[in-house]
Amino acid sequence: MRKNIVAGNWKMNKTLQEGLALAKELDAALKGRTVNCDVIIGTPFIHLASIAAAIDTTRIGVAAENCADKESGAYTGEVSATMVASTGARYVIIGHSERRAYYHETSPILMEKVKLALANGLTPIFCVGEVLAEREAGTHFEVVARQVEEALFGLKKEDFGKIVLAYEPVWAIGTGRTATADQAQEMHAHIRQIVAARYGEEVAADCSILYGGSCNGENAKELFSRPDVDGGLIGGASLSVEKFMPIIEAF
Ligand code: PEP
Repeated sequence: MRKNIVAGNWKMNKTLQEGLALAKELDAALKGRTVNCDVIIGTPFIHLASIAAAIDTTRIGVAAENCADKESGAYTGEVSATMVASTGARYVIIGHSERRAYYHETSPILMEKVKLALANGLTPIFCVGEVLAEREAGTHFEVVARQVEEALFGLKKEDFGKIVLAYEPVWAIGTGRTATADQAQEMHAHIRQIVAARYGEEVAADCSILYGGSCNGENAKELFSRPDVDGGLIGGASLSVEKFMPIIEAF
């Protein structure tokens, strides 16, 4: 059965000290508590090793926000999937719309990242989502289908089965404008259908598909109540325990 997951994406926020303090505070808040979802925090690279060593990583999974599309070598400033795995992180966010838009990450590049993440035992949290103009033009279903197909459908069935998907309409990220639960459900069901057509009903039914885009303590319960919405990828509201915890508790 697929998992419910609430994953934070800190983006380029928090110094090492601030990030460590936040991770420890979240770990303490979750200690002894039963929650009905897996909890993950996605942090900048420099935080990964310190945070993975400071918290109970069976309680909170640690994710990188990116990894390189190359194995190793002369790529100044890049961080490989092998390096990410060596920190104790178990997940990596790949294909976030900010990476696609600002760093020109195309499907072939993302496919390489996914392959390297899997080869290093990391679970990719693979993001897809349309921009506002695409939604307004009514092309959002085909845009998202293409993003999934181009980067992921070259994978073998057993590898695809290890991936977590995140639908993040770009117009909802950091804007305060959340997709309605119906819009999220509709797109998640569409994604599941495409996956079923390529890999079969069982793989599709087992695939966790998270929603991301201005998800918060007020709207999470309704979003997560939809049958194909298996949790959230949370940006702004993951930056404090006070805001993140109600989303975790929405399950
Ligand atoms: C994100 O960056 O993945 C995200 C969903 O951001 P926010 O929750 O701030 O919209």
